[in-house]
Amino acid sequence: MPRPIRATLSASALAHNCMVAKAYAGGAKLWAVIKANAYGHGLERAARALEAADGYAVLDFQEAARLRLAGIQKPILMLEGFFKPGDLPLLNKYSLTPVIHNPEQVEMLKRTELAAEIDVYVKVNSGMNRLGFTIESLRPAYNAIRMHRQVRNVTLMTHFADADGPGGIQAQLEWFSEMTKEYGAPRSLANSAALIRYPETRTGWVRPGIMLYGCSPFADCSAESLGLKPAMTLATEIIATQQLAPGERVGYGFAYEAVGDLSIGIVACGYADGYPRHAPTGTPVLVNGKRTRIVGRVSMDMICVDITDIPEAYIGSPVTLWGEGLSADEVAASAGTLSYELLCALAPRVPVAEIP
Ligand SMILES: *Cc1c(COP(=O)(O)O)cnc(C)c1O
Repeated sequence: MPRPIRATLSASALAHNCMVAKAYAGGAKLWAVIKANAYGHGLERAARALEAADGYAVLDFQEAARLRLAGIQKPILMLEGFFKPGDLPLLNKYSLTPVIHNPEQVEMLKRTELAAEIDVYVKVNSGMNRLGFTIESLRPAYNAIRMHRQVRNVTLMTHFADADGPGGIQAQLEWFSEMTKEYGAPRSLANSAALIRYPETRTGWVRPGIMLYGCSPFADCSAESLGLKPAMTLATEIIATQQLAPGERVGYGFAYEAVGDLSIGIVACGYADGYPRHAPTGTPVLVNGKRTRIVGRVSMDMICVDITDIPEAYIGSPVTLWGEGLSADEVAASAGTLSYELLCALAPRVPVAEIP
């Protein structure tokens, strides 16, 4: 028998969350962002389940090729565009829409006669200072792209640095609008946080990611309150129990010391499965559906959990690390990270089962 750990992925939760995103989007079209193996959910599986999407956004040409091989015919947006001249024929081969964000890409495109027409996104740096053209470099880049014989539609896009935080989007949106007002091109602005919180970004094509997987982009607002359902549940079982007397310790570094009598369940999940190693004592976990906490250090293959108040818990008892009944957002917050990182880090050794 394999170890009891497994992830389940709910196709109906993905479909539901996609409909929620569609409702927020109003008349705007929706790129379902499925980069990073669909945030750990499996590329083809997620694309199939996110049936309300108008297109899919990825980074890797391998991911784009996999989607086409799976028979998916909707538009595909390449969020970082192409990297080398050899990538350009792939745009036609797989019918891809590249994001062009730097002058090198413009040069590569200029030098290339494409076999068929393509649509292009031009990325504007509105203050995040990661990718995109500045106000000075936008005009020459845009003109060169427009003049290319095989370029059909051009959309202007930008990305917000703090749509989920206190800074908001106002300054970036104003700057973007100022920079692009004379272009008269369609726009693509919103990630999940902007889509939910800032109606003025629901224009052209929106680009939600994390909300499709049933997690909240906001620290101060639960996924449940947004009407989202967790798509991934990471579950396992207790494989051993220990009784600790006061003063006894558990795990590497003897990091946790029992204050009173303590029952411990040893759980088949560790950082090699994708559980965050830095999750501290107190991080929530469900045993037999009841909420308790992890204690001591997360090791490679095991976690220790407090089952003192769950007397029926024993070897074989079910444990939920995150997902149905315990949000990945909450576990992530306890571990000082984001649900994004937990989902993407699901390890290949964890078997995945798709459920309706
Ligand atoms: C990843 C990404 C998104 C999706 O962001 P979420 O916060 O997951 O909704 C949108 N746009 C771009 C450019 C991205 O890289």
